[in-house]
Amino acid sequence: MEIFDEKDEEVKRLMLRISRKEITLCDSCDTFFDYIPRKISCDGCMKAKARERRQRPEVKERMREYQQRPEVKAKRREYMRGRYHRLKKLREEE
Ligand SMILES: [Zn+2]
Repeated sequence: MEIFDEKDEEVKRLMLRISRKEITLCDSCDTFFDYIPRKISCDGCMKAKARERRQRPEVKERMREYQQRPEVKAKRREYMRGRYHRLKKLREEE
């Protein structure tokens, strides 16, 4: 059973790399990724989790509250005004 032996070797190699903290196994799927301290999920799962978090009502509510803050509103207005003038200038230059 050569295939099994190869598989064994592969697993052994992976285990060795894990013990050396070169790679680690994702906590949500069975993907290996480069070891980074305190990182427990692969990039794909991290993104999926972040997306999920943003969809949660309490997070949405917090975001909404944040955007209602006067200083945040002011900053956004400033940004929009800057953008408006940049676009206007571009149009005038055409
Ligand atoms: Zn994952």
